[in-house]
Amino acid sequence: MSEAFALDLPRPTGGCADAPVLRERGQREVFCGLTGIVWLHRKMQDAFFLVVGSRTCAHLIQSAAGVMIFAEPRFATAIMEEKDLAGLTDTNDELDRVVDRLLARRPDIKLLFLVGSCPSEVIKLDLSRAAGRLSEKHSPNVRVLNYSGSGIETTFTQGEDACLAALVPQMAAAPANAEPSLLIVGALPDVVEDQFRRLFAAMGIARVEALPARKISDLPSVGPNTRFLVAQPFLGDTARALEDRGAVRLDALFPFGAEGTTDWLHAAAQAFGVDEMLFRSVVAPGRERAARALEKVRPALEGKSIFFFPDSQLEVPLARFLSRELGMVPLEVGTPYLHRTHLARELPLLPSSTRLSEGQDVDRQLDRCRAARPDLSVCGLGLANPLEMEGLTTKWSIELVFSPVHGFDQAADLAELFARPLNRRDRLSDAIV
Ligand code: SF4
Repeated sequence: MSEAFALDLPRPTGGCADAPVLRERGQREVFCGLTGIVWLHRKMQDAFFLVVGSRTCAHLIQSAAGVMIFAEPRFATAIMEEKDLAGLTDTNDELDRVVDRLLARRPDIKLLFLVGSCPSEVIKLDLSRAAGRLSEKHSPNVRVLNYSGSGIETTFTQGEDACLAALVPQMAAAPANAEPSLLIVGALPDVVEDQFRRLFAAMGIARVEALPARKISDLPSVGPNTRFLVAQPFLGDTARALEDRGAVRLDALFPFGAEGTTDWLHAAAQAFGVDEMLFRSVVAPGRERAARALEKVRPALEGKSIFFFPDSQLEVPLARFLSRELGMVPLEVGTPYLHRTHLARELPLLPSSTRLSEGQDVDRQLDRCRAARPDLSVCGLGLANPLEMEGLTTKWSIELVFSPVHGFDQAADLAELFARPLNRRDRLSDAIV
């Protein structure tokens, strides 16, 4: 971001750019990548997610997504019963029959994902071969792709990364002389994507596309003239796949809060040669709206300490936003995977007193959290109740992925998600007094 246009925030002093990272490789307490289906199916309107898994997987999907009622749901689980290797041919035949029945009944499906899981009988199945076979059979009406949402390989946001990475080979090759295009990477709610599109249009950036596209027929092409902005910090494999196709990633903060959103938009403005004055005039109203709205939430958060358990990979940018724009004090920022390249601009903006941890050893981390007694702990559902029982206030990290939180107009909503549990705690203690 240009100095003249920087927000009135403390200048970075190196922050956590070179800070040591505590690497933990013990027991994890996180959801698996199947969870991503809950927000991916909302975004991709003609896609269907068929989990090839066990009854446990079916329960997870039903309970994670069960609050939503659809006339025609766009996800299901094909439950694989235990079989020995000799039974695999039958299993493949059975899978083909399930897919045939589904597609015959649902002509609206244009893209079918076979989503792998971790039960041993599923691991034995070659889902990529099954996807190729079924794609051929149902082409050109339906494309069949596969990715893994297995809890052995993925934490819950990595399911989206695996899904989007599976889409990249489906993108047509843009010719070398194609008009430069901007690609927004990450499943943003439509309303947020549309806000960003309006801002880019006002800057004069003509070709803006998104991965994932809302319909498979709108899947953009990709090539050396594609510049892409990653909207989520957990899309490392997708970014690598796009770079392998010649696209260039634009380095920026993630678009959380006024500062992050300004920097993210500015990276595109610079790449597309947008005049600096025009850029400022386009973003100023949204940036000021966000700053004003954040001021209202600030008193609830300022000076409060926060401890992040590793869960969504959003932890580093969120800690940056909460400390710089709301005055919170991040004590520990844990993340399942610390992607140094994608976080290169984020890490220097964290207070240098913050402890960074990567991976998880849940008991040791719980001990550190108990010793630190933070005002707020951000963690998965499984840890929240025990911590609340011990008098610690918690925020479920999964809500941060389900709610619209990117961009100027969502900045205060994002801050509110952290203020709410603290307000609730204060109200409860007032009631007890
Ligand atoms: Fe559980 Fe694995 Fe199924 Fe996820 S994929 S619900 S971790 S069995």
